Amino acid sequence: MKVALVFGTRPEAIKLFPVIHALRAREDVDTRVIVTAQHRGLLDQVLEIAGIVPDIDLDVMTPNQTLDGLTAKLIVELGQAFDAEKADRVLVHGDTLTTMVASLAAYYRKIPVAHVEAGLRSGDIHHPWPEEVNRRVVACIADMNFAPTQAAADALLAENRDPATIHVTGNTVIDALLATRQRVLGEPRLASGLDGLAARFAGKRIIAVTSHRRENFGGGMEAIARAIADIAARPDIAVIFPVHPNPNVRPVMEAVLGTLPNVAMIEPLDYPHFVRLLDLSHLVLTDSGGVQEEAPSLGKPVLVMRETTERPEGVAAGTARLVGTDRAAIVRSVFALLDDEAAYAAMSRAHNPFGDGHASERIAKIIAASGSARGAMDEAA
Ligand code: UDP
Repeated sequence: MKVALVFGTRPEAIKLFPVIHALRAREDVDTRVIVTAQHRGLLDQVLEIAGIVPDIDLDVMTPNQTLDGLTAKLIVELGQAFDAEKADRVLVHGDTLTTMVASLAAYYRKIPVAHVEAGLRSGDIHHPWPEEVNRRVVACIADMNFAPTQAAADALLAENRDPATIHVTGNTVIDALLATRQRVLGEPRLASGLDGLAARFAGKRIIAVTSHRRENFGGGMEAIARAIADIAARPDIAVIFPVHPNPNVRPVMEAVLGTLPNVAMIEPLDYPHFVRLLDLSHLVLTDSGGVQEEAPSLGKPVLVMRETTERPEGVAAGTARLVGTDRAAIVRSVFALLDDEAAYAAMSRAHNPFGDGHASERIAKIIAASGSARGAMDEAA
């Protein structure tokens, strides 16, 4: 059977490269990779490290494109790609615009859709925006829902999705993280670009920061920047912040943090370097989805700068805490953790609420089995 995987952003590429490797290891599946390149530079970083060359690259990124302009472009171009590939199944991930539009274009051609990281819900269509609606649209279409956790499966069941379509697999990000960490341990030069910063900040506790959510653009970003400045005023702290290139993020951060000695604002890191940064950190301050899943596996407390999270497992396990985007509240939460050893110890238990590192193998097996079942039915007919 021919499976076309479609994605366009860095987090999708990180979470799908182990699935691509698992599918490519099978002889009964012909795996095709279609990228939209919704995030050009960040996507290419991941593809290169993972050794993946796309079969089709739509290269749709243009400066300041609108959601509706991108949707219009993608639906036409993905439709043409599916017609050219004649895939038996389309596989998408998560909740980006690429994911939602690829599902629709597949549906218009009656191609079945498999959804990896299905069932994440915040319950609020404006947080995260527009991702909450993107993923709900995919759920209406997919006939295979790979839920990372039981909570995600329960969310799908609560929407009356057919239980036969739901498989709890674990999150493939844990596969990516553990495999990459292993690679870096064996080959330290893969992440040696951080050696200089590690030496410069020796003796300080490092806080890794990432921030790029659309719903935090504007006032939220400004408050986050000012909170980081307050935190970095402490002499025992250093902040390492790979800054997302989005024009709503970088100028705000540069204006507030650009000259502070304890803050290193750096270019986005490739995945091996980012995994090393997590390893070097004392705690993580982020509004990212994927980072919330990765940090607990490495025993790093995560403070989440969002109002809601669709990943309650980390909060329930006690390894993540929602701190919102209020400047004073962020600072208070970080200082509480820095100054209370018992609270830190309780949050820093290494824990894998999101998966065991074998999600991709499970997904590949289920997809291949559906191909053989279909083949047997076609023969019988
Ligand atoms: N990440 C990375 N380099 C960086 C920052 C993040 O490789 O400089 C990885 C991180 O490990 C995680 C993913 O990018 O797997 C998260 O992406 P992002 O925060 O952009 O998106 P989200 O997960 O919120 O959709």
